Formats: sequence, C-alpha cells, structure tokens
Amino acid sequence: MKPNPHEPPPTDPGPENPELQRQNPTSFAPPRSDKGSVKNFRYPFSFSHNRVTPGAGWAREVTVRDLPIATDIAGVNMRLEKGAIRELHWHIPAEWAYMLTGRARITGVDFEGKAFVDDVGVGDLWYFASGIPHSIQAISDDGCEFLLAFDDGEFSEFDTFLIADWMARTPPEVLAKNFGWPSNVFDAVPREQLYIFNAPMPGSLAEDRKRAIGPEGQVPNPFSHRLLAQPPRRRDKSGEVHVADSSNFKASLTIAVAHVCVRPGGLRELHWHPNADEWQYYIAGEARMTVFEGGSKARTIDFHPGDVGYIKKALPHYIENTGQTDLEFLEIFKSDRYQDISLSQWISHLPSELVEAHLHIDRKLIESVPKQKQVIVPS
Ligand code: MN
Ligand code: MN
Repeated sequence: MKPNPHEPPPTDPGPENPELQRQNPTSFAPPRSDKGSVKNFRYPFSFSHNRVTPGAGWAREVTVRDLPIATDIAGVNMRLEKGAIRELHWHIPAEWAYMLTGRARITGVDFEGKAFVDDVGVGDLWYFASGIPHSIQAISDDGCEFLLAFDDGEFSEFDTFLIADWMARTPPEVLAKNFGWPSNVFDAVPREQLYIFNAPMPGSLAEDRKRAIGPEGQVPNPFSHRLLAQPPRRRDKSGEVHVADSSNFKASLTIAVAHVCVRPGGLRELHWHPNADEWQYYIAGEARMTVFEGGSKARTIDFHPGDVGYIKKALPHYIENTGQTDLEFLEIFKSDRYQDISLSQWISHLPSELVEAHLHIDRKLIESVPKQKQVIVPS
C-alpha cells in the first residue's frame, strides 16, 4: 500500500482538509521514486460545476478549462431521470458514450437520411460522428447515467446546437416558408433551451424504429455497440480487458476504448500508448498511477470513482489496484485504433545480454519474461 515510505513519515500540525488528505496519501507523502514537477493529470467530476434540471437530471463536464493538459478529449457525466430527454441536438466534435447505470433510447440520422434507433444498457457504447443529430431518453425506472467523451478537449457540452433553441432564433416567417405551415404554428416553440427535460416514456423499440426508418433504410454501421457483451481481449485471475475501436465498432472512427478490470492487488502493467493521449475515467475501486515524463520527472496520484485521468501520448505509466475490491476504469483515446506498448513485451523481444547490460539484472530472469503481452499482472 505504501511504496518506499518516508521514514519518519512527514508531520502536519497546520491547517488541513482531512477528507482530501485521506483520499490522496501519495500527494502528501509521495513515493521516493517521484521526482520533479509533472503537470496535474487528475480532475474529479466531484469538483465540476453541475447543470441541474430539478426532477429531470443533470450534466457536468471536465474540459481543458478544468484539466489543462487534456487537449484531445472533453468528458461529460450525465444523469437522466425516468423518461427525461437530452434535447435533440448536434455538435462539432464526435460524441462517444459509455452507459454507467440504467437504460436509454437513443436516436440518430445520418447525412443520407438513414435512421438509427436503439436501446442501450450498462456496458454499452454509442458513437455519433461530428454533426450527426441525436437524442437520448432514459427508459428504465431509475433513469440512467452515462459518460460522454468528445474528441476535442475545448468542447463544452453547454454550447451544442439545440433544436428548439435554433428555431427560437430563426424568424417565424422563414420557419413558415421552410415547412409550408402558417407562421403562428411556431408561437408554441419554447423560447429557452430545453436541454434536459421531463417527457412521457417512449413506446416500444420496434414501433419507434418502424416510424423512424424511411426509404433510405438504416445506418450501415450501427451507432451503438455492446462492449461488455463482446468476448474480452483477455480474462484471467488478474482481471479482464474489453477493447472497442473501429475494427469491431465500425462507426467509432475517432474514439478507441479499453474497459479494464483489475482484481485486488493487481497491476495494469507498465506500458505506454504510441498513437494518442489517454483520457481515463474511473468507475469503481481505488487506484494509484505514476506517470514518468522523461528528464527524470515522475509523479504519483491516487484515483477514486468519478475521477478523470490524462496521460500525454507515449508517456509511460502503470495503474495499481490499491483497494480491497475490483478496480474498473476506461482508457479512452482519440484514435481509430487501440494501441499500447508493454515494457515487459519490449524487453522480452530483445537479446537478453542487451537488457542485462542496461539494467544489471541477471539474463536468466530477463529470459523468463513472457513474450506475450500481459496487460494485467500478476497473471
Ligand atoms: Mn450530444
Ligand atoms: Mn494506459
């Protein structure tokens, strides 16, 4: 639990926030292997300013304004009560989602008029490409909660193109001409954003699909994907890993994900990602991560459910399960493919004399390192 503890431990007679200090032991007493100044790579959603619609739901975001190094991806955590709708809208970046609780009905239409309607539940994903109009409605008794990731760290969920908001900002005579209806029809359109609002529950999925689909048919590649229902890339006593990118979730052209579960005492092995920055979301359990920055710099931070982590492309790191329960988190990348390079796999593919000359570790031990990527250890 306490690597390389300071002896004697640091004392702290002055002012302190005891709850935060308890949650962040490696900030107050870092491992002695930490060195130098590494920019902050954690932001808890608990610190985010929430946008609440009483009785209908809420949304809070972590963007580059909160976590300045997170330039590739912005995240949103949203809650919808039973029947509540996230207003019909679209936006410039692509939207990727992971369902955390409950079930939702989602809709979208592509540029050819091909329709998409589906119901998603815990462990399912969706992906709406840049500019694709969509909606989300909670359909289970306890509503739903989900995580959104946008492929632009600057993006704000509170600046999207909302259907009623756009119509309220278009002259009624133009709307009348556009639809061929009398202009007083548009007197009823809300003048303010709906954003998140209560509505009656929708009908059956089959009925909604039938009404949505026109002669153009359905979208060729579904906008949803059952991540946790697919076969895991790896599953053993140390944990399990599910990966979705454009190779198996064809619609997801700009976001790749690994859902990682590490059993107590396990470690997401020392590794890095050669192709993209990593945006992390912690779902369950307790974790500790050290990021090595080069130039002899390293920093360790503790993570808790609801926290966002961020690692710049190619910076090496590990994630240790420091709790008594399973650690569950998402590794999200702005990329069409999931890629990682493992320290163990690297040295297992080198002449052992070459490794021994660097690390002064007996070559017999070097030769015992498995050539297959471990991902989670011990395995
Ligand atoms: Mn959206
Ligand atoms: Mn990683």
